[in-house]
Amino acid sequence: MKKIQMVDLKGQYAEIKKEVNDSIQEVLETTAFVNGPKVHEFQENLEKYLGVKHVIPCANGTDALQIAMMGLGLKPGDEVITADFTFAATVEVIALLNLTPVLVDVDPDNFNIDIEAIKKAITPKTKAIVPVHLFGQCANMEAIMQIAKEHNLYVIEDNAQAIGAKYTNSKGEKVMSGTIGDVASTSFFPSKNLGCYGDGGAIFTNNDDLAHIIRGIVNHGMYKRYHHDVVGVNSRLDSIQAAVLNAKLPHLDIYNNKRRDAARAYTKALQNHPNIITPKTVNNCDYVCDTCDCHVFHQYTLKIKNADRDALVQHLQNKNIPCGVYYPIPLHKQKAYLDSRYNEANFTVTNQLVKEVISLPMHTELEPDQIAFITKTIIDFLDNN
Ligand SMILES: *Cc1c(COP(=O)(O)O)cnc(C)c1O
Repeated sequence: MKKIQMVDLKGQYAEIKKEVNDSIQEVLETTAFVNGPKVHEFQENLEKYLGVKHVIPCANGTDALQIAMMGLGLKPGDEVITADFTFAATVEVIALLNLTPVLVDVDPDNFNIDIEAIKKAITPKTKAIVPVHLFGQCANMEAIMQIAKEHNLYVIEDNAQAIGAKYTNSKGEKVMSGTIGDVASTSFFPSKNLGCYGDGGAIFTNNDDLAHIIRGIVNHGMYKRYHHDVVGVNSRLDSIQAAVLNAKLPHLDIYNNKRRDAARAYTKALQNHPNIITPKTVNNCDYVCDTCDCHVFHQYTLKIKNADRDALVQHLQNKNIPCGVYYPIPLHKQKAYLDSRYNEANFTVTNQLVKEVISLPMHTELEPDQIAFITKTIIDFLDNN
């Protein structure tokens, strides 16, 4: 059995080495390192893939979120509602822009932002909701868009973990994640489902005016050379990263299918164990079926019940099985984001999840013997402790 890794970028690269190398070589030959043709080519390819009018590439997923909020004209003091259970980038940019983060609880079954909690958190100062499509599936976007419409709020999708996932609405229509709200952000960090070989990110929108504003913001607030109309930033996707992404984008659906295959194998082996709760989907579809496209399993995350999660983590590490706890501390308890207005009674789910979750190795190169070893090791440990 090959050594088990949390993410296997080397194995994935080996499969597409020629495409990636050729694409990078083209950039080297043209020396168009910044804003070169590769960046525009990638932008157009991603617009086509997503079926979205505008993709604006930028330097990373955190910038993408920040620029989206700047583009919407959010002002200091505006309240922005987001999930308490996510990577810190989401709340960080809200705070950086002097907006007021309002963290809310999540759904215990699918880990995404809780709809009733959003409703309870709305005040006259609320201006936007940032659903994070956590671990690879969309939040309940239909309900979120309805709330946004009723209260005149913007919706910014943090799509860093769910690129390629489809959201099925109640009419049975399918839409790509990141194309539903006013604007969306994504990250091409190497370990993401569509990762480059450095940092990268993008903003998506169907709104022409907003796209124009954002194109200026990423480039120092310039709409005409050396005319700075608004305060902007310098946030670019470099051409070599675009070259890698251009080579990888045609494989994204295959990659996501491989992740789902691994998820299915994990779930089949683990679903009947009394101490394990396997991942659930937002629309309660059975991703164990062959036609699922709603979950792209950026992470495969179990909940461990009535057993010592931390001892399991230690045991897996002892057996050379990497795993992760995403996330070990709720954002509302992080020093940087403490706020006396938060009431612990409103965070019962996140406070519980941080004690129960464990994410297993998940990537495109997982092999059946590795999955069998991982699941057997978990079950043996739980049965004997
Ligand atoms: C990775 C990630 C980001 C940040 O992306 P970077 O490219 O690392 O800046 C933001 N939000 C979520 C949910 C992420 O997983």
